[in-house]
Amino acid sequence: MKNSRILIVDDDPNSCFLIERMLHSEGYENTLVANSGAEALEIANREHLDLILLDLMMPQIDGYEVCRRLKQNEHLWDIPVIVVTARKSSQALKQSFDVGAIDYIAKPVDLIELIARTESALRTKKSYDELLSQNQNLERLNRDLERVNTTDELTGLKNVRYFWGYIETEVKKFRRLKYPLSLIMGDIDDFKQINDTYGHLVGDAVLKQSGEIFLKNLRDYDLVARYGGEEFAFVLVNTDINEGAVVAEKIREAIGRQEIRIGDAVIQYTISLGVATLEPKAPEEHISSYFLVDRADKALYAAKRGGKNRIALAD
Ligand code: GH3
Ligand code: MG
Ligand code: MG
Repeated sequence: MKNSRILIVDDDPNSCFLIERMLHSEGYENTLVANSGAEALEIANREHLDLILLDLMMPQIDGYEVCRRLKQNEHLWDIPVIVVTARKSSQALKQSFDVGAIDYIAKPVDLIELIARTESALRTKKSYDELLSQNQNLERLNRDLERVNTTDELTGLKNVRYFWGYIETEVKKFRRLKYPLSLIMGDIDDFKQINDTYGHLVGDAVLKQSGEIFLKNLRDYDLVARYGGEEFAFVLVNTDINEGAVVAEKIREAIGRQEIRIGDAVIQYTISLGVATLEPKAPEEHISSYFLVDRADKALYAAKRGGKNRIALAD
């Protein structure tokens, strides 16, 4: 605390000198001096400060105004301010606290009082800074946790937990706004065979690469999540069944064009997709995320039964 940077503000240089001497005598050597309100604000903007000892009665910008401006500044509001003044009226005291001062020292300044109030202010500021930093750490931790909880480790796509939360929210919005909401379920064809032929790691690489292809072929505000295994879910807001079919077809073609080279071998693979849409005229009993997923799933299996590497639309 002794290395805290303290700014002494007073239009009377002798007054500044006296306070500075007292602080130095107690080991607070890191001091700065300003002889006007304007200079005080200029220094506060330029230097890091831990505490300001502020005279109230100064020409032009007085102490109240300096304090008011500091407290309104988003970078400077947290510097503690102790007012130092000859005026001992309770009115001046009230006004000082009103503009944001945390303490008050009367002139002529008494050494013990000066040091006691200085230390108390610095301690308060230190605890506050520590709390703030703990709070920021917690927030960062929370964000990391949230990300880990909602991300699929292998592909980096959103996971199935996130998917359910997202589609629930979108179905709720649909109830109010009645924009069409499309869901595509996609499943890589004969994936087991890729695993069996080339090994699990190559299978993983296929899943990862598929995730990248999906992201490339979707709009920013569409969601793709890994639903499980080699199955993926695409949520397309404000998208009717025809537009949904176009997106599904685009994904199917993009995956079909992929080639993965493993040594001399070139792997190509395909995907089947089922599309279901909540249309604005949907009956009440259809407005549910489970029902939408079920319909998209059934369409997907129709695409599989139809010979794979194709899309199918829900009835
Ligand atoms: P279909 O065309 O009917 O979809 O057949 P398929 O072989 O793709 O489907 P099936 O459900 O028979 O096999 C899926 C395989 O996906 C089985 C499972 O071991 C594998 N799998 C699931 N998750 C992963 C994973 O994270 N990595 C790898 N490499 N394989 C996975
Ligand atoms: Mg499959
Ligand atoms: Mg499957």
